[in-house]
Parts: sequence; structure tokens; C-alpha cells
Amino acid sequence: MKIIKKPEELQKAIEALKKKGKTVGLVPTMGALHAGHISLMKKSVSQNDITVVSVYVNPIQFGPNEDYERYPRPVEHDIKVCKENKVDFLFLPTNETLYNDNFSTYIYNNKLAKIMCGVTRPIHFQGVCTVVSKLFNIAMPTRAYFGLKDYQQYVIVKQMAKDLNFNIKVIGCAIVREKSGLAMSSRNTYLSQQAKQDAAGIYKSLCLAKQQFCEGKKLKDIKKKLEKNILAVAESKIDYIELRNSENLDLAADKDKSVVIAVAVKVGNVRLIDNIVCKK
Ligand code: AMP
Repeated sequence: MKIIKKPEELQKAIEALKKKGKTVGLVPTMGALHAGHISLMKKSVSQNDITVVSVYVNPIQFGPNEDYERYPRPVEHDIKVCKENKVDFLFLPTNETLYNDNFSTYIYNNKLAKIMCGVTRPIHFQGVCTVVSKLFNIAMPTRAYFGLKDYQQYVIVKQMAKDLNFNIKVIGCAIVREKSGLAMSSRNTYLSQQAKQDAAGIYKSLCLAKQQFCEGKKLKDIKKKLEKNILAVAESKIDYIELRNSENLDLAADKDKSVVIAVAVKVGNVRLIDNIVCKK
């Protein structure tokens, strides 16, 4: 595995490989790699000749009072995980190499970035789209892998690739969970053992909501019940509960065949997101 820090260096290496007809998979991450990230790497390795993993805590997707400074950065662990999973290139850019002093060009989705997580995190998806489009231009992947854990991010990136004519297949990968049902996340390290146990109640509540959806219950009743169940999780505070069309994130209607039920919940002071896709 080659570790590369400079964008131009990765670009050159990939250009040479693509000239030889190799396919390239890209897995963008912020590191503190866990089984969720590994599932993306494995999928990329199985579908492409070359796999690039980027590990970069992107400052421009964090709001002023968020956890940019505190975000875990276990670099040695991440290198080991990538090596063990047959990654070919680990891209570790720095703020200096990615954002020049005059950096002033941003990518923003004018519709999808304003809803759900975008309400309390207004600059978040602009930061994500900007860094992902940079990574697309640097790694020039054939396919790029995103977890459905960040469902809104997946839909926005897919839309961005379509809107801006990136010739890249954006692939969504299933959510990997702890045995308890808690969705794996680098931010789970902020939770105490007790809070982790409590937070598993979020997934249980989502499963119940899905069951009700499949039974044909009205969306407003499903939402009400879900709210009640999530509020029963110790120290929980709901940021949002949203039922949306799983394709375009429009507000879901009772007639919709495929709905994503997405939640953002603070457990203590840790903000967690999770979702479940329900199909009739
Ligand atoms: P992050 O490092 O949290 O920015 O995540 C990097 C990528 O891994 C994103 O596409 C996430 O959606 C994905 N990811 C994170 N956690 C999980 C999980 N539990 N299951 C599946 N994918 C995940």
C-alpha cells in the first residue's frame, strides 16, 4: 500500500493506472476507521482493480461550534486497517495541500442541502460536496462508495455527480451496526458504555416504525409513535424525525412505495444520525 499526501502525486499515479485500463474505486472517509468503513473498502476491492481510501477530517464541513478539533484522528490505526484490507493507495491530504490561500470555490446543492441535517448544519453539505468533488478530480475513480448511514449525504453526492457530469458511479453501501443495533460511527467513541446501550433504542424504534409502514399505517401516526419511542431513550433530544421519499428526499406521502425514515438525535451531548429504508 502506498501512502500519498500530495494531490498531484495521487493524480499522476491514478492517471498512469487508468491509461493501462485499470478501474479505480474511491472510499472517502474522515478516518477512525471501523467496520462500517471496512465494508465500503471491501466492496471497492471486490469491484475494482485499484482501491483508494482517503482519510481527511475536512474542516469546511464543520460548523463553528462542532467537533472539528475533538474529532478522533488515530492515524496509525487507520494505516493498519487499510493495509489489512488490501487498499492500494491511502490518501492523507492536509489542509495546506487541499485548500490554497485563495481558496474560494464551493459546490452547493440548492435544494437538498437545506433540509434534514442542513437545517441545523447549514454549511455542512457545501463542505462535503466541495471536498468530494475535489477528491473525485484527484482520484478520478470509476466508482465511489458511500454509506447509507449518511443517507442524505449519499443522495446529495449522487445528485452532484449527475448535475456536474462526473463520470463516476456513486454506490450506496448498507449500514453496518453493532450487535445492539447501534449504527457504527466514529463519533460513538464520544459515548459512555451506558449511553451506547441507551442509544441502541434508536434503531429499535426505527425497526418498529418500519414494521408499521409495512403494515400500511399512516405516516403521521408512524412519526408520532417513533417520536414517543425515541424520547423514551435516556437523555435523548430529537433534532429531527423525517419521513422522506427515498429517491429524491421529497416529503413522503402515504402513497409512496419507498420511504426513508431518518432521525438525528442527541444522546447527552452527542449527536447521532440513523435511518431505515422502508419499501411497500
Ligand atoms: P465518515 O468517516 O464518518 O465520514 O464516513 C465515511 C464513509 O463511511 C461515509 O460514506 C459513511 O456513510 C460511511 N459509513 C460510516 N459509518 C458507516 C456504517 N456504520 N455503515 C456503513 N457505512 C458507514
